[in-house]
Amino acid sequence: MRNLLGGALMPRVCGNCKYVTEDLFVNDCPLCLRPLALSSRVGTLGEEPRPRLFSRRNLLIAAAVLFIGVPLAVISFIFTAPTYCLSPAGEADSLGTIRVGMPVREVCKVLDIESPPRAFSGMITWGRGGRMLRLRFIDGKVVAIEEGNLPFTVTVTKVQPQTAGRK
Ligand SMILES: [Zn+2]
Repeated sequence: MRNLLGGALMPRVCGNCKYVTEDLFVNDCPLCLRPLALSSRVGTLGEEPRPRLFSRRNLLIAAAVLFIGVPLAVISFIFTAPTYCLSPAGEADSLGTIRVGMPVREVCKVLDIESPPRAFSGMITWGRGGRMLRLRFIDGKVVAIEEGNLPFTVTVTKVQPQTAGRK
């Protein structure tokens, strides 16, 4: 009969919904059907999930940032600022396959990309594996070659025609 003794001093409380009753013979919360606790112990019975730093959800977000966000940032960086790894290559690229004065169609054949119009003026940025090229064309001929090596693999094909009026 310890229920009588203890219960007289301590009303019963549901740890889930805070339902309180003085009825000593009610063992389960009528609202959520969970076992009732003595009110003095309510504080220790809380089962509220606290946000954890290394929860499954946070780890998934961190993984997404690492495996999607970082490569995206790297790729966009290469697209927007490819010059950081490029340096002038002189009359020909390191393989000797692309030379100043070469027609754009021939260059695109070497690079295995679709060729812009025959009289193309502008820039072609090309990257495969860790190798990167930036070629400048005027009237369909190579006028400048820049080459660089990256510490990671890229696949970049960017054809930028020169805007009319600027030369
Ligand atoms: Zn309840």
